[in-house]
Amino acid sequence: MALLPINLIGDKILRKKAVQLKEADMKTIELIRDMFETMHNANGVGLAANQVGSDKSIFIVDLSKVEGHEKDKPLVFINPKIIFRSEEKVNMEEGCLSIPDIRAEIDRPASITISFKDTDFVDCKIDAEKYLARVVQHEYDHLQGILFTDLIGSELKKKVNKDIIKIKKRKIQFQYPVTEDADYQLV
Ligand code: ZN
Repeated sequence: MALLPINLIGDKILRKKAVQLKEADMKTIELIRDMFETMHNANGVGLAANQVGSDKSIFIVDLSKVEGHEKDKPLVFINPKIIFRSEEKVNMEEGCLSIPDIRAEIDRPASITISFKDTDFVDCKIDAEKYLARVVQHEYDHLQGILFTDLIGSELKKKVNKDIIKIKKRKIQFQYPVTEDADYQLV
């Protein structure tokens, strides 16, 4: 297992659409293990593969450290597709390991249904609501090259832009390993 440096806003791979997998080979399983280690080390609840330099269509979620979710099992989503979004929307604060120290309230559908493959490459489908629906939608967006700061209003965007520049220039203290600069990319 290995801790991987996390890509930050400005890194090109965060804007790439993820590539679908044809199988979950050993390399993929190893990547998923490293993603869990990297996410837990950074106290995150979700992580997409492009945040650690891979263009594979994978994200992981683990809410078990969150109050009220202690019994939730870690989840791996391979080739995910959101197939239902509720019309009802909810507002919730979000943050992102690729955009440290910035938080904003975002409107998203209250519940969703997502299909995906698990690590045995078996077709799965889950209905998610509340906090799980929120984290799943945030990570799913990563695989489309979308960051939560794309979804905030223009007023707030002006406010956070300065902080985003600091992140891009690596001018803040990071609590976990990050990539070296905006052009850095794992092969
Ligand atoms: Zn994120």
